[in-house]
Formats: sequence, C-alpha cells, structure tokens
Amino acid sequence: MVRTRFAPSPTGFLHIGGARTALFAWAYARHHGGTFVLRIEDTDVERSTPEATQAILDGMRWLGLDPDEGPFYQMRRMDRYREVIAKMLVEGTAYHCWCTKEELEAMRAEQEALGMKPRYDGRWRPEPGKTLPAPPEGVKPVVRFRNPLDGGTAWNDLVKGPIAFDNAELDDLIIARSDGTPTYNFCVVVDDWDMRITHVIRGDDHVNNTPRQINILRALGAPVPEYGHLPMIHGPDGQKLSKRHGAVSVMQYDEDGYLPDAVVNYLARLGWSHGDDEIFSREQFVRWFDGQHVSRSPSRFDFDKLRWLNNHYLKQADDADLAKRVAARLERAGVAVPADGPDLGVVCGLLKERAQTLNELADLAHMFYGEHDPNAIAQADRDKHLGGAAREAVAGFAARLAALEQGDWTAAGIAAALKETLAAQGLKMPQLAIPVRLLVFGVTQTPSVDAMLAAMPRAWVLARLARWPG
Ligand code: GLU
Repeated sequence: MVRTRFAPSPTGFLHIGGARTALFAWAYARHHGGTFVLRIEDTDVERSTPEATQAILDGMRWLGLDPDEGPFYQMRRMDRYREVIAKMLVEGTAYHCWCTKEELEAMRAEQEALGMKPRYDGRWRPEPGKTLPAPPEGVKPVVRFRNPLDGGTAWNDLVKGPIAFDNAELDDLIIARSDGTPTYNFCVVVDDWDMRITHVIRGDDHVNNTPRQINILRALGAPVPEYGHLPMIHGPDGQKLSKRHGAVSVMQYDEDGYLPDAVVNYLARLGWSHGDDEIFSREQFVRWFDGQHVSRSPSRFDFDKLRWLNNHYLKQADDADLAKRVAARLERAGVAVPADGPDLGVVCGLLKERAQTLNELADLAHMFYGEHDPNAIAQADRDKHLGGAAREAVAGFAARLAALEQGDWTAAGIAAALKETLAAQGLKMPQLAIPVRLLVFGVTQTPSVDAMLAAMPRAWVLARLARWPG
C-alpha cells in the first residue's frame, strides 16, 4: 500500500516549487490507490507562523490537493520524539555529548588548520573498551546519533537513480539539542516511520539528508522507504527561481487570474512528461504518473506556456463558473453587475477566447458593464469610423432594433437588422459594425457584434446607440 507525504515547513507561503512537490507526491499516491499525508514541520518555532500554515493549507485546497490524512503537526508530537530518543539512548544507538560550544569551535579551528573537513571527532561516542571522560558540571548534553563508521548508505532514487554515500562522510548527527528539543532530521525520520510512509518524494535540496535519515531508520529497526528527489525549478533564464520569476505564493496565481486546473496541468509538465502530451486533466495525470519520466535536470519556469494553458482552461470552463470568478474581480474593480443587465455567464462565454487570465476576462467584461462616454472615444477613431454616413447608419439600425419583436432579440434577429440596414444604405459591414462597437462597447473590435448585442438588454443597446460624441 503506497503512502506518500508532503511535509512543508510553515516558514513562508506555499510557493510554486513546494506546490509541484505536493502535486507529485499526491499524484503518486492517487495513481497507486494509496494514501497522501500532509505533515506540517513546524519545529522551527522562530520561523514558523500560523499564517504560513494557513497559507499552505489554502494553497493545497486551491490546487485541489486534499490530503487523506493530516495535517499532522510536529509540535504536537514532541512526546513521541522524546520517547524514541530515550529508547535509542538505552539501546546505545544514540549517546550524550557534553561538548561545549567553545570546544566545538576549537575542534573546528584545529581541523581547518590541518586542512581537514570539520567534523565531530567522536570524543563522547561510546566504543567497546573506550573510557569516556567524566561529564562536566553545569553543562547540558546534546544527544547524538551513533552513525555507522564504515560501509556506505545507498538507495536507488526514483528520480535520480543509484546514489551512494560513505558512512565515514557522515557526522554523528545531533538528534536532540541541549534543551531536549529534537532536531529536524530526527523528527522527519520518526514521522516517516510512524506514518508508515513508503515513498518520500521531495526536493533534491534534501539529498544530503537522506543517508542520515536512512541510517537512523535502520538503527530504529524501521523500514526504509523509497526516495525520489525532484530537481529544482529554475527561472526562464536558468537562474534560481526568484520572486520576479514567479516564485510567489500559489495564491498569487489565484489573485493573478489563473485557474487551479491550469496551474496543476502546468506544474505536472514541469519536470515530468508523458510523450508529447501538453494538455491533460488531473485524472489523466493521476492515471499516467507512475514516477517514471521525471526529469533529472532542473526545469525552467515558462510564463507564456502557463498563460497559454490558462487560456485553454478558460475556453473550456463552464461559463457560470467563470461568471462567479469574474464577478468577484469586477466587484473589486468597483464595476456593478446589475441583475437586469447582461448575463455575466454569457458575457464570459463571448469573451473568454480573448483572455489568458480571469483578470483579463474581467477587464474585457468592462465593455458590457462600464459606462462608455462617447466623448471618450479617441479622436482618431472618431475621424476614421464616426464620420460620413455612420451617424445615419447607426440611427437606421437603432430604429430597426427598436422595431424587432421581443422574441427576435437574438443574434440571428440582430444580424438580420444589420443586413437590412447595410442594404438600405449601401454600406459594407465594417462601416456600421465598428461605429456600433464604439458606441456600445467603447472599442473597435469585439467578437461577432450580433451575438454581443444580443447578450445585452435592448434598452441598454438603444440608450448607447442614441449617444454621439460632440
Ligand atoms: N520540511 C522540509 C521542507 O520544507 C521537507 C522535509 C521532507 O520532505 O523530508 O523543506
């Protein structure tokens, strides 16, 4: 039974890299019909905040990555960590170390002077036949893990393939500080064990922690999970992802008008592939994501592609659902959507093709709901489109619209009125359609003008057509 986890530290928002890690761990569990666990690693009390925890939970919910178990909080598991440390001390897989800060600094200086890599020299490490010094007065000891001295620690990484470390390279890690609080690597190990995690999928900034964690698991007699380390996400320029590149909270993507499905599709393709498939649903991704075909090299963030995908998801979104998301944005912009005005769902349906984000869609919707003062029409547009026969053509068109039966207030009915007007006045479509667009929508280009007008109450259209600049 596959069990994966996402284990963020709540020291900041859920950013795009964390979101991808969460997505892959989630999808791997779903693919295998397993369990996805959410664990909040909040033991760094100075840097962890409830706001960050909330931001992570919000981001996960927005992306639709619901955990099957959790969130579990490490700070609520302190007794369990202490219990395991006590057991290790009894079993001899961990030991007290009374080195003071000064001693450690001296040790380090000495090793550096000799050109050696600084490391703990094992002076408090118990060995058969070794006599340990007497514990000094007034010093509170830390607890260190008794790491194997020889041999190696290796695993076959799900992403990176075989990885091996010499145990001699690994220090006797501090697993509890002198105040008794457990350290990061240790909590991860106990949690992965207790939560029966079978596959640890995380960022490759943790590769160096893995041999230490494996050794502690072995010392505990715990099963060792599989590990898969995901390469970083870089900016489009190949540099470390920064704020400027989009290393912002996933909720910022919501704010900026991206749909969660588009972001999930985008993140899924960021460092993973399934042939040439670019657009796929969450369900397809889950069906395909078996841990294979994850890229071994860093991926590059590509905003244009995200925007392209978002446009795709906007186009196929349900118009009523879009209306809800766009309404909130119009409200924020102070644009009223009156109940007797154009239906926002219909408006979204007409305009979504032209928008890459919900914010752009909301901006476009202004053309239906905004006040368009004809005097605000640019002089160049007036000269080009509102001279000559335009005024008479618009008046003739308005008269025909006013005379339509109520049941003919449809795109087809309006198209017929347009054609009649053109025929009667010997004009071509743009000579009427552009002036109408300018007066009703304030712009020269829109989707098909008959469908646009049909989406608006007749009284609104006639009122707008009755105005003229000057
Ligand atoms: N809490 C760690 C982090 O946010 C992740 C630990 C892990 O996945 O093992 O980087």
